[in-house]
Amino acid sequence: MSAQAFGARGTGSFPRGIHPAQAKHHSAAAALEVLPPPARVEIPLLQHLGAPATAAVKPRDPVAWGTVLGVASGFVSASVHSPLGGKVVRLGVTTLPNGRHVPTVAVAAEGEQVAGQALWEALYGGPWPTAGLDELTPEAIGAVVREAGLVGQGGAAFPTHVKLTPNPAKPVDTVLVNGCECEPFLTADDRLMREAPAPIVAGALLAARAAGARQVVIGVEDNKPEAVAALRAAAEGTGVVVQSVRTKYPQGGERQLVLSVVGRIVPTGGLPLDVGVVVVNVGTAAAIAAAVLRGRPLTHRVVAVTGPGVVRPANLLVPIGVSYREVLDFCGGLRPEAVRVLSGGPMMGLAVGDLATPVTKGTSGITVLTAREVRKAAETACVRCGRCGEACPLGLVPTRLALASRHRDWALARRYHIQACIECGCCAYVCPAAIPLTQLIRMGKAMLPKE
Ligand code: SF4
Ligand code: SF4
Repeated sequence: MSAQAFGARGTGSFPRGIHPAQAKHHSAAAALEVLPPPARVEIPLLQHLGAPATAAVKPRDPVAWGTVLGVASGFVSASVHSPLGGKVVRLGVTTLPNGRHVPTVAVAAEGEQVAGQALWEALYGGPWPTAGLDELTPEAIGAVVREAGLVGQGGAAFPTHVKLTPNPAKPVDTVLVNGCECEPFLTADDRLMREAPAPIVAGALLAARAAGARQVVIGVEDNKPEAVAALRAAAEGTGVVVQSVRTKYPQGGERQLVLSVVGRIVPTGGLPLDVGVVVVNVGTAAAIAAAVLRGRPLTHRVVAVTGPGVVRPANLLVPIGVSYREVLDFCGGLRPEAVRVLSGGPMMGLAVGDLATPVTKGTSGITVLTAREVRKAAETACVRCGRCGEACPLGLVPTRLALASRHRDWALARRYHIQACIECGCCAYVCPAAIPLTQLIRMGKAMLPKE
C-alpha cells in the first residue's frame, strides 16, 4: 500500500501560542531502554475516555503476556491486557492523577518473562511491511485495533478504533500522525521516532487503510531533526510525507496541527474529522502496527522520565500498570531537591500525589521538578493586560472562562465556549497576576452540567 500526497499544505504554524523553555536536554540524548519486568502490576480498567472495561478475570486466575484482563464495555471503551505472565492477585481500586477512582486488576509475575531486547524486538524491532497492506480490509484492521485495546498515547487516551471507524457522513481523506511532542521536557516520542520509525510508518498506512484516507502526513516539530531524518528514511517509497513544523506550544494540539500541516481550520467545538482528518500519535501508530501485523495488544508504552529532580533521566519501555515509584527507582530515584512529580509535562501534566499510582496507556512522561521550576508567586488581582487572550491558541477569552468557573455561571461559560478549551496552560503561563486560569477552567469544564 502507498499513500498519495495531495492536500493543501499548511503554513507550518498556527496563530498565538507560546514559546516556553524546551528543557528537552535532560533526557533527549538517552537512548530507549527496557524496564526489567516488575514483580507486580496494577492495571486500571479505566485508563481511556469512555466507559470502563469489565473485569474478565478473578483472583488466582493464571494469565500470560497479552491475556485479556478487562473487556471493552461499549463502543467508546477499550479492553486491557496483561503485560506479565503470572497470576491475578487482586481486583481493587486506585486513584489516578486526574482524581478518578478506578477499578483495577493486579497481576503478580510468575515464571520467565519476555523482557529486555526480546521484548523490544517483539514490539518494535525487525522489518515492518509497507506493501500488501491493501489486502487487509478496513473492518479487519478496525476489529484488531479494538481488540488490542488501543487508545491515543499522546495523553487524551481516546479509543483508537472509534477514530478509525469510517463515518459515511464525514469522509476522511488524510491521516495526520502527530510527532510534535510539544510539551517541555518530554522526549518519549522523539526517541521512538528516532529508534523505531518503521512501525510508525507501517501503522500510519494501516490507520489510513482503516479510515479510508489516501493521504498520510507525519508532522514533527523542527526541534527534532534526527526524528525527521529517521522517519523520512523509513517512509521512502511509501508516499507517506514527513513534514517539519515550527517549534511552538501547543503545536501538538490536534486543531493546531491540522492547520499547520494540512492547512484546514477545525471549527470551534468540532473535531479534525469535520475537515476530513484523523489524527493519531506516533506511539499509537506504532501500536497499530504491532497489533495488526504482530498480534500484540497494548501492554507496554514508552515513557520519558525526566526533569532536574530525577537522578538519571531516561526514556523507558515500561509495562502498563507498573508504579511510578518503580519507574523512578530504576532511574536512581528522586534528588533531594525534587518537589513535584508530574504525570506528563509541566504545561498539561497533573501532580502525582502517591507514587504507588500505576502508569497508564496515556502516561507520556514522568517529569520531576525542583523548586526552581515550580512557580511560587502569590495570586493577585487581574490587571487586564490581555496577555492570556493573546496567548490562547483557540482564540478564547480565558479571563471570562475563569470568572464563569469561579462563580459557577454556566450560561456565561457556554457562551464563551468553555468546552473548546484544550487545557493547554498557555493562559496561566503568561498571566503576570499568577491567576490559575487553566485550573479554574478545567474545574469549570468538569462541573459544567450536562445539557
Ligand atoms: S487553557 Fe484553554 S483558555 Fe487557556 S490558553 Fe489553553 S485553550 Fe485557551
Ligand atoms: S493575563 Fe492575567 S492579569 Fe492579564 S488579563 Fe489575563 S487574567 Fe488578567
